[in-house]
Amino acid sequence: MSEAPIIKKLEETVINRIAAGEVIQRPANALKELIENSLDAKSTNIQITVKNGGLKYIQIQDNGVGIRKDDFSIVCERFTTSKLQKFEDLSSISTYGFRGEALASISHVAHLTIQSKTASEKCAYRAQFIDGKLNGPPKLIAGNQGTQIIVEDLFYNMNVRKRALKSASEEYQKIADVVGKYAIHNASVGFSLKKFGENNDIRTPVGSNQTDNIRTIYGNSIARELTEFSLEDDKYKFKANGQMTNVNYSTKRMNFLLFINHRLVECQSLKKSIDQVYTNYLPKNMHPFIYLSLKLDPKNVDVNVHPTKHEVHFLNEEQIVEIITAAVEKKLLGCNNSRVYFTQA
Ligand code: ADP
Ligand code: MG
Repeated sequence: MSEAPIIKKLEETVINRIAAGEVIQRPANALKELIENSLDAKSTNIQITVKNGGLKYIQIQDNGVGIRKDDFSIVCERFTTSKLQKFEDLSSISTYGFRGEALASISHVAHLTIQSKTASEKCAYRAQFIDGKLNGPPKLIAGNQGTQIIVEDLFYNMNVRKRALKSASEEYQKIADVVGKYAIHNASVGFSLKKFGENNDIRTPVGSNQTDNIRTIYGNSIARELTEFSLEDDKYKFKANGQMTNVNYSTKRMNFLLFINHRLVECQSLKKSIDQVYTNYLPKNMHPFIYLSLKLDPKNVDVNVHPTKHEVHFLNEEQIVEIITAAVEKKLLGCNNSRVYFTQA
C-alpha cells in the first residue's frame, strides 16, 4: 500500500486561474461579459474590434458612464462590483452583472487594459492589469467619455485551453453570433463588429428597431417573413414578446434567440417545444427563426446557477413553456390561414 498523499491548499493565483477558466471559456464568453458591462453602464454605442477570432485581441469601446479613477485599483479584483450589495438583491437584480467576476477573471487569463473617462473627470485614465491587480498606476490620457477595454493574448497562461481553441474563424463566428444577438435585443443601442483593419461585419445604427436589425444581421429572407407576437400571463407572472418566421420560411438548423430577463440564455425545453409546433407546418427536417424575449418575475429565476450564466432555471418552467408554445402555434395558424387565403385570392 502506498502512502496517502498530503492535502495542501492551492496557491491563490492557481485558485483564481482555475475559477477564471470556468467563467471565461472562449473569446465569445469574454466578449459577452464585456458587452453586458457596457450595457449596464448605459452605453448607447458599442464598437468591437477583434484579431484572430478574439484569441489575440478584443477591443470594446463604449460611451457609457465610465469607471471612476479611484475605482481603478479594485475594479479587477474578484467580487468587487458597483451593482450588488446584499444577497437579497439577487432576487431583484436588473443589471447583467452582479458578482464582480468578469474583469477579475479576464485579468487572470489574459492581458487586460482599461481606459475610461467619467462625466465629471476632465481626462481619461488608462491602466494595465495582471491577476486582478493594477500593473502600475493609471496614466492620464486624452480620451472620450466611456470605457475602452482591451483583452490581449487570451489564455496565454493556459496552454491546454489555448490549444483546444485553435480555429480563429470558428471563434470569430461565435463572437459575431453573440454581437448580432445583443444588437437585436438591444436595438436602440448601436453596435459594430469588425476584424482589425477590415470593414465592419456588423453595424446597427443607434435608435434602430428589432426588425431592421434582424434584417441587417440575418438577411431579408428571414426579415420579410417575420410576425411579431406578444403575450402576458397573470397566473405565472410573465411577459413574452418576439418575432417568429411564418410558414414561408424554413432553415436546416433552428435559429433560436432567447433572452430571459435580458440575458442571452439557452433553454432546451422551450426550444424543442416551439420547434415541435413548426414540424406540422414546415417541410420535413426544416426549422424556424425565433427571437423571444421572456420577462419573468426576478424572484422566480435563479440567475446564479452557472459560472457563465448560460443556463437560467425558473419556476413553473413546464407550464410557461406550454403557454408560450400554444401562443406561437395560434399565431402560426393565423399566418397559415392568411397565406392560404392569399394564394387562393
Ligand atoms: P459586475 O459586472 O458583476 O459588477 P465586472 O467584473 O464585470 O463585475 O465589473 C466590475 C465593475 O467594473 C462593475 O460593477 C462596474 O462598476 C465596472 N465596469 C466594468 N465595465 C464597465 C464599463 N464598460 N463601463 C463602466 N463601468 C464598468
Ligand atoms: Mg460584468
